[in-house]
Amino acid sequence: MDCIFCQIVAGEVPSQILYQDEELIAFPDIKPLTPTHVLIIPKKHIPSLLHLSEADLPVIGHMVNIANQLAKSEGISQSGYRLVLNCGNDAGQIVPHIHMHLLGGRRLLDVFD
Ligand code: AMP
Ligand code: ZN
Repeated sequence: MDCIFCQIVAGEVPSQILYQDEELIAFPDIKPLTPTHVLIIPKKHIPSLLHLSEADLPVIGHMVNIANQLAKSEGISQSGYRLVLNCGNDAGQIVPHIHMHLLGGRRLLDVFD
């Protein structure tokens, strides 16, 4: 498996695991765009939102729940944060293993302004 995120799940690529359970792991983005930039991923290899089956849908709620908990533990829950799931080329998805970005720690001024 040459998926970088599967390799992190397997412990073959080192990362600072901020959270883990039987279904998910969370770790800091290697090139943070914001002071807090954490990735939350399912352990299961799902290439993108387009590959989510109905049976996989609960994992997205689980990812949101863990992202909310991490926003609190990282100290950005009151200042505000953004959860992002990029799908495909125009969205800038570069890693083909579904992941949620938790972004915060500064004002996020871009497409929403
Ligand atoms: P995306 O553009 O949505 O596919 O985001 C992929 C993210 O994964 C980027 O922000 C990268 O900086 C990040 N990334 C790639 N490789 C690693 C790694 N080994 N550890 C942590 N983050 C990574
Ligand atoms: Zn993978």
